Parts: sequence; C-alpha cells; structure tokens
Amino acid sequence: MALLKPTTLKPTTGIGMTSTRTRERMLTRLREQGIKDEVVLSAMGEIPRHIFIDEALSTRAYEDVSLPIGYSQTISQPYIVARMTEILRNGKQLNKVLEIGTGCGYQTAILSRVAKEVLSLERIRPLVMKARGHLRTLKCNNVKLDHADGSNGLSEFAPFDGIIVTAAASHVPEELLAQLAIGGRLVIPVGTNAQVLMLIERQAKEYVQTKLEAVKFVPLLGGVS
Ligand code: SAH
Repeated sequence: MALLKPTTLKPTTGIGMTSTRTRERMLTRLREQGIKDEVVLSAMGEIPRHIFIDEALSTRAYEDVSLPIGYSQTISQPYIVARMTEILRNGKQLNKVLEIGTGCGYQTAILSRVAKEVLSLERIRPLVMKARGHLRTLKCNNVKLDHADGSNGLSEFAPFDGIIVTAAASHVPEELLAQLAIGGRLVIPVGTNAQVLMLIERQAKEYVQTKLEAVKFVPLLGGVS
C-alpha cells in the first residue's frame, strides 16, 4: 500500500486541521490568553476560520497568526479578533455595529453572531466580493457589506452601539466618535509605526479613552480601489 506523505494530504472541511477538534484547541488557547466572554468564545468556536483562507495556507488557519488574503491585506489573528469583540461587547448584547475594514470577512462573521445587525465597509472591491461569498456560505444574514472608504464611518445609519476599526488609524477620527450611541464603544488601533489598541466609550457627558495593548494592523487608507 502506498503511503501518503503528510505534505500531500489536503485539508477538507471537517477533517484534520480544519476539524471541530482543532477549533476547540484554538478555544483553549484563547482562554489561556485571557479571553473570558463565553458568547465570544462560542462564536469563535462556531465560525470556521479556514474557509476565509486560501487552500494553500488552510493548514495554518487555527494558528494564532495573521495570514495573507491577497491585495497586500491580512486576516487578523484569532486572539485579536476575540479580544476586540470582547471589548466591544462588554458583556452585553449588541444591536447595531459598524465595522471598518471587512477584509475577507472573518471578524464580520464573528460580529454577526454577537450583534443583531452588522454593517461593514471595505475599500478594496475584490475583497468585498470575497467576503460576501464567505458570509453567504455561513448564512450571516444580518450583515450588510459595502464597497466604500470607511474613514468617516456611516453617518446615515448612526448611532451605533459599537464601532470596530480593523486597520490602524493615525488618530481617532472625530466623525466616528459622533456616530457612537450614548454607552457605545469604539475599538480602534491607533498609530503608524508603534500602534496601540484604543477603547473610547461615549458616556452621557464625555468620551472616556483607554489604551489597551500594542497591536499590529495594516494601515487605514483613504479612497477606494
Ligand atoms: N477584519 C479583517 C481584517 C482585515 S485587514 C479580519 O477579520 O481579518 C484590514 C482591512 O481594512 C483591509 O482589507 C483594508 O483594505 C481595509 N481598509 C483599510 N482602510 C480602509 C478604509 N478607509 N475603509 C474601508 N476599509 C479599509
């Protein structure tokens, strides 16, 4: 009997590296990394990350790394997706959420499981098409994707309970602060070389800003392509 070399084995849905067991190992690691929100962990366990990644890289889908998705962009590492979602949720059910930087749609799919309605903007058209396909496969029917520069948010749909930016901004855009509901939260990486994840909460009379941790995101760019 000819033996298959491990390198010739291709991961198929539900088998090997892409199986539920592999995802459970990812959940164990996320807990070790400090993620506590069971709603977020359950969404991370439910959404298969490998379908968002090219087949050649899918054996690495559940490693805690960001991976290329084409067009010089990346899919965020599972830890950062879980962490940003946990901060955004703050232990509460979210109604309307805006995401800026859909990419391949992985974070969007996680958001669709923790919020009633998700609007997401992406400036690169082929990525919008890719993300739409993935979100349709996963029946994320409460998501609306648009091909647009999201730097200024989406004022016609404001206010939002949560705004999550998944590309690094040079500063916190004023327009996004104005689009938060009272009690709403903005989670955004800020900085050019050294970046820090920021949380801005809109309270009745003021905005409260907290620096969370060092992160590494692709830059938030203007215009569409
Ligand atoms: N949320 C993704 C991460 C995508 S990487 C995930 O789950 O993995 C960040 C994305 O932000 C890229 O696809 C990039 O094209 C997009 N982006 C950068 N600037 C943008 C802008 N001004 N408006 C909308 N999308 C933007």
